[in-house]
Amino acid sequence: MAQLIDGKKIAAMVREDVAAEVQQMQENTGSTPGLAVVIVGNDPASRTYVNNKKKYCAEVGIYSEEYALPEETTQEELLALVRKLNEKPDIDGILVQLPLPKHLDEKAVIEAIRPDKDVDAFHPSNVGRIMIGDYHFLPCTPAGIMELLYRSGIEVSGKRCVVIGRSNIVGKPMAMLLLHQNGTVTICHSKTQDLAAVCREADILVVAIGKARFVTADMVKPGAVVIDVGMDRDENGKLCGDVDFASAEPVASWITPVPGGVGPMTIAMLLKNTVTAAKLHGEQ
Ligand code: NAP
Repeated sequence: MAQLIDGKKIAAMVREDVAAEVQQMQENTGSTPGLAVVIVGNDPASRTYVNNKKKYCAEVGIYSEEYALPEETTQEELLALVRKLNEKPDIDGILVQLPLPKHLDEKAVIEAIRPDKDVDAFHPSNVGRIMIGDYHFLPCTPAGIMELLYRSGIEVSGKRCVVIGRSNIVGKPMAMLLLHQNGTVTICHSKTQDLAAVCREADILVVAIGKARFVTADMVKPGAVVIDVGMDRDENGKLCGDVDFASAEPVASWITPVPGGVGPMTIAMLLKNTVTAAKLHGEQ
């Protein structure tokens, strides 16, 4: 039986730490960290994420502004808003909720965000900083996973780590963060041959592919730590992860559930990044 990595509980601990930092900052400098959240269109999942971000900002004392733009917003209108927020002194962090409607160029929008306000850490300048290990912000989901490992007392150094998925927002930065912590890292993707055999070598297996219950017990080394990033729907429309929890859990030593594992950490780390941005701006 694996021990459960309780993302809800650990995210609440991170938010408590963030709230204490916000209070301290207010006492020391009289300033409050500020986050602008931009949402374009009516995607229901994006709306839920944005509502949660606002709710948790309020909980920890971060000032937040929402910019809800209609589906037909043009590229130039969106870029003009980003440029305005780049210069707005009470805004330390800018988050443009992805995905954007198809007619908008996500890459251009991300690149328009000032790197010191890029609390998602998606700007190429921040991505490059992560590569060389000299960064202010880490992308929220991989950073949240590192926090889960750290707060569960799971050592990364010297471990065989396998990451399935190589997206820019999860897989690639995840691999880099594990490497920074001296893991020996393999990145797998849709062209990997004999994926199950590679996975069975992993002491720490991080799964971020977006396919419901794809990873089964035969892909898990006995005693491995299994981190499930997936947010999928099963055949009944029920939220589940990329890992078949029922079969993998008896084999693993630690495992994250879905929901209640990685998901809650992503917003907690966004709040943390916003405080980091405010501190950077305070020093300028
Ligand atoms: P993505 O951009 O679609 O990337 C998926 C990756 O999985 C790709 O690298 C793909 O390989 C690989 N892949 C797909 N099928 C595979 C297979 N059969 N075998 C091996 N690799 C395979 O997805 P993402 O944005 O990284 O997200 C992954 C999952 O995490 C999704 O379920 C998403 O909803 C979830 N997610 C959760 C959070 C959270 O806060 N919990 C945050 C972000 C994402 P190729 O590159 O070869 O195509």
